[in-house]
Amino acid sequence: MSKVEAFLTPEEEQEIISAIRIAEKNTSGEIRVHIEATSEKDHYERALEVFHMLKMNNTKDENAVLIYVAVNDKKFVIYGDKGINDVVPDDFWSTTKDVMQNHFKHGDFKQGLIDGILKAGEELKDHFPWQIDDEDELSNEISKG
Ligand code: CA
Ligand code: CA
Repeated sequence: MSKVEAFLTPEEEQEIISAIRIAEKNTSGEIRVHIEATSEKDHYERALEVFHMLKMNNTKDENAVLIYVAVNDKKFVIYGDKGINDVVPDDFWSTTKDVMQNHFKHGDFKQGLIDGILKAGEELKDHFPWQIDDEDELSNEISKG
C-alpha cells in the first residue's frame, strides 16, 4: 500500500467529500482536494500544474480552490483561481492554512482537510455567495496523484 492510500481511510474520504459539499453550500466557489505522495517540483508549481490538469481554471467565475497535499513531503498548498485573487487580500488563505497546519502537526490529516475545506467555504462566502442557480461545476471527489 502506497503512502497515499494509507493517508485516508475510505470512511475518512467520504467525510472529506461531505465537507466539500457543505462548504459549497456557502459559496459559488468550487473546492477540490488533490493528494499525492511527493513532488520533485516546487510544491506551489506542482499545485498550479494539478489545478490545470483537473481543469479547475474553467469555472464561470474563476473561483475554484485547490487544496494540494504532498503527503511524504509534509507540504500543502492552497491555490485559488484568478477570480478569487482579484478580489481578496494577499493573506486571504492564512487563517485556513493555520487551521490545517495545526491539525497536520498533530498528524490529524482528515480533520485538517475537513476544517480547512469548511473554513475556505466560509471565507469565500463574502466574496462569492452561493447562488440559487448554482451548479456543482467541479467534482467533489478527492483526486489522487
Ligand atoms: Ca458551485
Ligand atoms: Ca464541487
